[in-house]
Formats: sequence, C-alpha cells, structure tokens
Amino acid sequence: MNNKTYAPIVDPCVHCGESTAFGHGKFVNRLGSGDDWACAECAGYDCDVCDNSIYLDEDRCWNDDFAHVHRECLSKEQNQIITMFNEMGGDWELPYGHSEAWFTDVLKAINE
Ligand SMILES: [Zn+2]
Ligand SMILES: [Zn+2]
Repeated sequence: MNNKTYAPIVDPCVHCGESTAFGHGKFVNRLGSGDDWACAECAGYDCDVCDNSIYLDEDRCWNDDFAHVHRECLSKEQNQIITMFNEMGGDWELPYGHSEAWFTDVLKAINE
C-alpha cells in the first residue's frame, strides 16, 4: 500500500507548470499577471548565444545581436566592459544603447 501524498500544485508557473506558491522553491521572484504566475527562470529572457533561459534580471547586454546573454556566455573582457558600462549608469544614463557602442567610443577617444 502506498500512502504517499503528493504536494498539490498551487499557483503553477504558466511556462513550466511548477508550483510558485509560498514554501516552494520557485516562490522567490515569481511574477504574477492576473491569476497567471511565472517563475523567475521562465520569466527571464532566452540567451542569444546558447538559447537557454536566463534567470530573471541576470541577463547581460553586449550589443543589439547579443542583447540578453548569460554572463558565462560572454568573454571575460566583455563582462568587464559591461560591468564598467553599468557602473557608469548604463544605457539609461549614457547616450549609448549598449556597452559595445560605448566601448567603441572609449577606444576612439583613447586613440585620438
Ligand atoms: Zn517556470
Ligand atoms: Zn547562454
């Protein structure tokens, strides 16, 4: 006889179907719209390099072709440049749409 009880699925993620209710691993950073919930893994973007999903808000932008990318899918140099760009205010404070454009201008200024 099997008396094992299964935890009911509460507030399932609309993408992966896993419960996002309090007490479940996917409760953290869940996003709601109406009665729909999405866990942070599913709510994030897909990586432009490896096509796997990126945890919410952990995607990095290098340029228009690599607008949402895992940190580990970029080179060490690219990550350093993106970090510097973000520390200076990023695309919401600087007149550049992405870190590659900013860095291209920095190199130009250095070489002048
Ligand atoms: Zn999910
Ligand atoms: Zn990736």
